Amino acid sequence: MRRKAQVFLTFDVEDPVTPASDDAVVWLADLLREKDVNGAFFLTGDKARALRQRQRLDVFEALRGHDVGYHTNHHSTHPTVAEYLEPHGWADGVAEVVRRELSGADLIRELSGRQLCGFATAGTSWGPHVPGALAALGIPAHVHSFSRTGGGHNPHWYAGALCFARSEAVGPVEDDLQDQARFAELLGRLPQLIKEAAESEDRILHLYVGHPTIFVNQEFWDGLNYASGRNPEPGVALTAPRPRSSGGTRTMLDNLALLIDTVQASPDAEFVAFSDLVAARRTEPTFREGWFTTALAEAAKTDDIRTTSRTVSPAQLLHAVCRAVQGEDVNRSGPGGDVLGPVELPKPGEPVDHPAGLDHEQLRAVAASVRRTVAATGTLPAVARADGIAVPVATLYRSLLEFTARGGADVLRALPETVPLTAGTEFPWIADEISEHYGRRVRRWMHRPDLDVTELMRLTRAQTWSLRATASG
Ligand SMILES: [Zn+2]
Repeated sequence: MRRKAQVFLTFDVEDPVTPASDDAVVWLADLLREKDVNGAFFLTGDKARALRQRQRLDVFEALRGHDVGYHTNHHSTHPTVAEYLEPHGWADGVAEVVRRELSGADLIRELSGRQLCGFATAGTSWGPHVPGALAALGIPAHVHSFSRTGGGHNPHWYAGALCFARSEAVGPVEDDLQDQARFAELLGRLPQLIKEAAESEDRILHLYVGHPTIFVNQEFWDGLNYASGRNPEPGVALTAPRPRSSGGTRTMLDNLALLIDTVQASPDAEFVAFSDLVAARRTEPTFREGWFTTALAEAAKTDDIRTTSRTVSPAQLLHAVCRAVQGEDVNRSGPGGDVLGPVELPKPGEPVDHPAGLDHEQLRAVAASVRRTVAATGTLPAVARADGIAVPVATLYRSLLEFTARGGADVLRALPETVPLTAGTEFPWIADEISEHYGRRVRRWMHRPDLDVTELMRLTRAQTWSLRATASG
């Protein structure tokens, strides 16, 4: 069978200011339905409240047959997601996301009568706590995530959620739809984009169309009113964006129709509903006897902490090794549930010092301490402590991989007198790329200029331990 790119369209629906942007959602939903294409529309809580207040529940009617997702409760209103996460560590930050976002997600479920297909990041306001909170919000996937595996896998798992990385190749398509020269360039590039996606392991092509509001306005409602940390004064009317001419709107809609026709005419592409894609990619890997031996050998091949396995994240693998050290037959029992990266801070003043090797009693005690932290918190410890010994988990990971590389998983059952310890890098290499990219983007206009993202970046790096590719591509 011909391998086709799976193409999906997404929209961020967020403008609570201009009533015309409500109509734009209906036009886009209708245009897609006429083409028999499913779109995913991510709404903010504030947009849902504005639709209810303006008695525009017909917008939810128009979205029947499409996917409905979530795009934060208040988007650019301060505090934004990154701003409210600023003072938090991991567990309290995840709880804060749930506390602030659940009412918006519930309202959209109520008004649409639907389950939500995903949570799309609002602008550049993100934290790793967002994917971390999705299960509690009852949302199955995260879109526009800053995470990536470093091996080109998209979607992937990060911080316990199925994540779709921000597309750097395409979009927002709205910028191209309003300019005929740019649109011609996009159409010219499309066959290559489709071909590359069809040939890639994961096959997806995310066409992020953008914002219905931009089909009727020339500028963004939030840039005008909420830039650089300021909320509008209470009682002062919001500045309305300059409207787009009706001819301009027509051009954008016609170009979008032509874009859809072009994809549909391609023998290498097919449109898929985002919710179907999510359901298919959430499939758990199947574990055959011997999977653990294979996973250890694969992970030992690289000096990096491997984030591209389709079966286990490095955090899950280390946890499995610790179980095996304690005598469990992991090859038979499987890797168990998800394990997140180490989020605790080193205790002040406590030196991290370890001997050159561990005897088997010490190794079993250290493994037991890792298991206790995972059982209590769902996360790895940063440093495994037992009997006065403190071993950074990265050192434990590297040492145990090197140890098993020589004799496979079986050597974990008959430990020698001493297992030597080899220091390893603290994070996968992709941790730097992700956190630096995030750190640059989050400092733009959407946030207070003095937003301190030190802790957000640290936790972003830590969660790269939880990365893995999806089971199916
Ligand atoms: Zn948005």
